[in-house]
Order: sequence, then structure tokens, then C-alpha cells
Amino acid sequence: MRNTTVQQPIRRFDPSNMQVAFCTKTDNELKLAHWLFSMMGKPALVKMGGVATNWALKLGLPVKGLIRKTIYRHFCGGETVQEAQAVVARLAAARVHTVLDYAAEAQEDEAGFDAVRDEILRNIALADKLKSFSYLSIKLTGIGHKDIFEKLQACQPLTHEEHQAYIRTEQRLDAVCKAIAAADLTLYIDAEESWMQDPMDALAENMMFRYNTDRAVIFNTLQMYRTDRIEYLNGCLARCAEAGVKAGIKIVRGAYLEKEQERALKYNYPCPVFTVKEDTDNSFNQAIDITLNHLDRAELCAATHNEYSTTYLTKRIRKDDIEDQQKRIHFSQLYGMSDNLTFNLADAGFNASKYVPYGDVKTAVPYLIRRAEENTSIAGQMGRELNMLQEELRRRKL
Ligand SMILES: Cc1cc2nc3c(=O)[nH]c(=O)nc-3n(C[C@H](O)[C@H](O)[C@H](O)COP(=O)(O)OP(=O)(O)OC[C@H]3O[C@@H](n4cnc5c(N)ncnc54)[C@H](O)[C@@H]3O)c2cc1C
Repeated sequence: MRNTTVQQPIRRFDPSNMQVAFCTKTDNELKLAHWLFSMMGKPALVKMGGVATNWALKLGLPVKGLIRKTIYRHFCGGETVQEAQAVVARLAAARVHTVLDYAAEAQEDEAGFDAVRDEILRNIALADKLKSFSYLSIKLTGIGHKDIFEKLQACQPLTHEEHQAYIRTEQRLDAVCKAIAAADLTLYIDAEESWMQDPMDALAENMMFRYNTDRAVIFNTLQMYRTDRIEYLNGCLARCAEAGVKAGIKIVRGAYLEKEQERALKYNYPCPVFTVKEDTDNSFNQAIDITLNHLDRAELCAATHNEYSTTYLTKRIRKDDIEDQQKRIHFSQLYGMSDNLTFNLADAGFNASKYVPYGDVKTAVPYLIRRAEENTSIAGQMGRELNMLQEELRRRKL
């Protein structure tokens, strides 16, 4: 499943086709998903469940098996990368790519950062050998200290030790990017909180300058809920053009809305994110337009569960009759969410992928709690998932 797969003709994208949406789900998996999303509709239960799970795991209570069979199975690929290969194969059978996402919350010290780098390097070697997946993701706080990123952004001087540690972070990222390029794979660098994002953007751009000479091997992520991201996008496209490389642009709306608003209020600085959803939506769709207008020097990944933005991009691809669209434009959703988008996109001939997290149950719990809370708090998301599952259960007469 290289991103050099043979181009198929594209058809109209129809996100309402439930048969295609759930083609990889067995009846039991469908019932489990229905039960899970019904539970996530109860915010108090999700909150209590999150706290209780963390305590139960800390106390060594036997809840791991229950988590593994329920929420973990729905949102994660497996405890090891080998276990996740079964999910990778099922997705590939429906022409859906996998973005392998090492979900374990790393130990925040040098040994922990080296371990994350080594895990990703092993995954690159595996992808090169198996040729079953060709996209990987990385979180820079998995390979470097949060407080150093924060200090750099705040223009505070680093101690000698911190400076050395930062050089090691850059070396870890370079080792990963170099291996990704050598194996002809693609790396998505995730975006994090705004107060440490500037040095992360600089690192990501440096890697693009080094490795994106022929195609976008490295993608940076832009959170379009940030009020400054259109300006950043234009700047990034200009810098990549000047360097003669392809800009890898992955756009998301942004995962830390409340945290961003609360911090701005606490420290009394202008809020860096929009406060009206419509402004975020407009900024996301504008980023699609800007990047498509610069496709001669950029590639785009629209990472979203938003049906309007997804449909809008498919329509623009068809209208503009974009050559090699599968290589230059990607769509991505999280495993366990918005299957109606992913599978119908792939079915219509677009490049669609799932972010598939893996890692042992205990360390994946924070990720799972975030997914549960997100599905509770995103207006409409949980309801949409439930409606679709109910429709498919009815269609299968279950
Ligand atoms: C494949 C994939 C990769 C991702 N990678 C990252 C990443 O690297 N970094 C990251 O931060 N997130 C990442 N996300 C999460 C993403 O940022 C969103 O939180 C999530 O996808 C929900 O947004 P949406 O576009 O899917 O859907 P929607 O439901 O249309 O949008 C919800 C989003 O809109 C924004 N929003 C909601 N209310 C308001 C408001 N009142 N004012 C302003 N904005 C508002 C928020 O960003 C919220 O998350 C990723 C998501 C996917 C699918």
C-alpha cells in the first residue's frame, strides 16, 4: 500500500452509503460500537469512567481485560505493532491506508525519548519489509522535553544541558525522517499546544527542507482553530518554494480548544484560537483553497471528521480535475470514528487513511479517555455515529 498506488478513476463521494462504511465490521463489532457510542452519550458516565479506570489500573485491579475487549478494541489497532497488522490488512482490503500511530504516553526523560525513536525506527523497517503500510505519525513531545519547547517559544535562555538535550531531540527527529525518506514512506508530525508549537514548526520545516525535495515526505500539522494559521500557511508555502521543496501540509481543526482558552484567560494574553466554531470551519476550508492553489509546490492532508469539509475537498478535486490526486491529496480519520467518510472516500477512488494507534492497554488509556470525552463533547459527533450504526444494524436486520 505505497502512496504510489495506481490511480483509479474517481466517482462521486457518497458519505451516506452505510454498506460501504461498515464493510469491514462484523455483526459483533457493530453491536459493540453501538453500545460504546450509547455509553459515550452520557457525559457524567464518561467522566466517572475515566477517573475510575485510572484508579483501577493504578491499584492493579483486573480491568485491563474489560478495556481491551471494549473501548480499546474499537479505537486501537493492538498492543504491539505485529498485532496491529490484522487491522492494517483489513483496512488495506478496503483500499484504506494506515497511518501507524505509536500511542503510548512516553516516559519524559532521555531514555523514554530514545525508546520512542527506536520504536518508530523499528516500525519504519517493518513497513519497508512488509509494504503493508506507508504512513507513520510522530508527536514531538514523545522525543523531546515539553519545558524546553516552552522555553524556546518564550525566548528564555537555555542552560547548557537543555541546549544539549534540544540538539538530541533534533537528532532523534532527523534519524526518523532520514529513515522515512530512505524507505519512501510519509511522516505526519502532529501539532500540539500553541505555547510550544513555534519551535516544533521550525523543526518540521527544517525536515521538509532536507527531505521534501521530490515529494512531501514530511508533513507539518496546522491547527486551523488558531487565528494565525492562515498567515503561517502562506509563510510556510513561501519558505518551501524559496527552498525549492514541496510543503507537506496536514490540516486539522485542533484538539486543545478549551485548554488554549483557559490558559489565555489565566495568564491574560489574547486568546490564540477562535471562539466561534464557524470561524474555525472557514479557516479550515480556506486552508484547503490556499493549498490547492499552490499544489505545484505542496501536498495536502485533510485530517477531519467534518463531512462538509471532506465533501468540499472531493468536489474541488473533481472540478479542478487534479492530476495524480491520490498522491498529492490525502484524507484521514481516526480509527473507530467516521467510517462513513473513510471507506466511502476510498471506495470513490480518493486517498483515504485511518490513524491507527497501538500500544499496551495501560499506556493507551489516556488516549482512549480523550476519544471518549471528544465524542461526548463534540456537538453532534456522537449522535451522528449512533445514527449511522443504527441504520447499518437495521440494514443487517440485527
Ligand atoms: C487523522 C487525524 C489527525 C489528527 N491530528 C491532530 C494533531 O496533530 N493535532 C491536533 O491538535 N489535533 C489533531 N486531530 C484532532 C483534530 O484537531 C480535531 O480535534 C478533531 O478532528 C475534531 O475536528 P473535526 O474537523 O474532525 O470535526 P468538527 O466536529 O467539525 O470540529 C470540531 C472542532 O472544531 C473546533 N471547535 C469546536 N467548537 C469551537 C468553537 N466554539 N470555536 C472555535 N473552534 C471550535 C475544535 O477544534 C473542535 O475540535 C486529528 C484528527 C484526525 C482525524
